[in-house]
Amino acid sequence: MMTAEWVFDGGRASVDLVNTLRDRKRGGRELLVDPAALGEWLTVAGLLERKAKVTARHLEEALQLRESADRLLRAAAAGDRPKATDVKTVNVLAAAVPPAPPQLRVDSDGRVRLRSFAPADPVAAALAALATDAIELAVEAAPVRICAATDCGLRFVDRSPKRNRQWCSMARCGNRAKARAHYARGGSL
Ligand SMILES: [Zn+2]
Repeated sequence: MMTAEWVFDGGRASVDLVNTLRDRKRGGRELLVDPAALGEWLTVAGLLERKAKVTARHLEEALQLRESADRLLRAAAAGDRPKATDVKTVNVLAAAVPPAPPQLRVDSDGRVRLRSFAPADPVAAALAALATDAIELAVEAAPVRICAATDCGLRFVDRSPKRNRQWCSMARCGNRAKARAHYARGGSL
């Protein structure tokens, strides 16, 4: 059952994770309310291919990763010194399940294929991939911005040519802002 209104406008998986705490400008509304919600988000995000047991510990780690990634990415984008605890969090989680090396398999027909690995703990592997994504974005000092709408707070990586994107999405906040400006100018329907 799809219970939450997930949004994937962040431009990168780790930023989408940050956005699972919605309405940050108004104190925050938690969407990862229990381990099942985390399992659903990871699946919809394409990070979990098969059903996997999501534990309370996984959820705790995901929430810790999410808040560390948010502070870290904003510090990196602003050129500020990140907090040591946030650096440690992403490093520890990224190292928990290192990505499997590519391995060749020769099939009976003599053709080579990539051997697939199934991680022992696919949820931990997904969190490691998210931590790795946050590390890469921080190093790139990616332009992570906060939606300009006063009641939104969603984060996104600004890849617009002029680096002047304002809204998490035109469909959600951009059009609302345009409508408000229209009525403020005395516009009618
Ligand atoms: Zn927005």
